[in-house]
Amino acid sequence: MKTYWILLVILCLSLSLFAGCAFLPGPRALSYAPEDQLVILSREQYREFVASQDVILGTDRSELVEKVGQRMAGATEEYLALQARTDELSRYSWSFSLLREPCRNLWAAPGGFTAVCADFWPYVQNENGLAAVMAHEYAHLVAGHGRELMSAALKKRIGAPLSTALLEEPDATRQIWREVFGMGNPQQIYPYSLQQEAEADRIALTLLALAGYDPRQAIQMWEHLYRLENSEKTENFFIRHPVSTERLERMRNALPEAMKYFEG
Ligand SMILES: [Zn+2]
Repeated sequence: MKTYWILLVILCLSLSLFAGCAFLPGPRALSYAPEDQLVILSREQYREFVASQDVILGTDRSELVEKVGQRMAGATEEYLALQARTDELSRYSWSFSLLREPCRNLWAAPGGFTAVCADFWPYVQNENGLAAVMAHEYAHLVAGHGRELMSAALKKRIGAPLSTALLEEPDATRQIWREVFGMGNPQQIYPYSLQQEAEADRIALTLLALAGYDPRQAIQMWEHLYRLENSEKTENFFIRHPVSTERLERMRNALPEAMKYFEG
């Protein structure tokens, strides 16, 4: 039996060189989307996206988006410092835009480029709810989830890493970016895996606590989203973030760890 397992591991290691192996966890597939290059592309795509939108400036709500954004950005940087990842801080330049577009969504791309639709307000309800959604998206950023999707999509659809893909297939590569980071057709987005969602939920609670927002109120916001009618859950954010009783339960279980960082 022992010999069987050794042979299986050797077989997996060999296969993983070509196609990955389901039996072994292996390193996370990120090599097709180097972080620094992804940040440059994200800045370009975010600026293009925001320039095509009606941006709301100088209102109480736009100032609140900026305030909550800065607070969550600070917490995200503190989280990276706690993880001894200060070398990554220079990649974040943070930007927050409130859009008049009739949509219910919040996006965050590598580098901290964030946009939120004004129509999302009834769903996040208040400052705590907005912070909770931002925290969740920033948790995806620090966990590298979008980068994982981007790397896998480049490998599968272009067959080349980001720098080569941009030279050889610039339009298709930018289309993949829009699908991965959700700034495109709601029907053409890459969903995060359940594992990625669970990880983002857990990290987000800690980010909120570090920012001084009560993580318990984030769970109330997710419970509110859970109670929404299905007919309201048709936008990118809801397609990507189906809320189930199991999800809520996992968040409640992660709460004690996050509360260690919350000073109230
Ligand atoms: Zn998510």
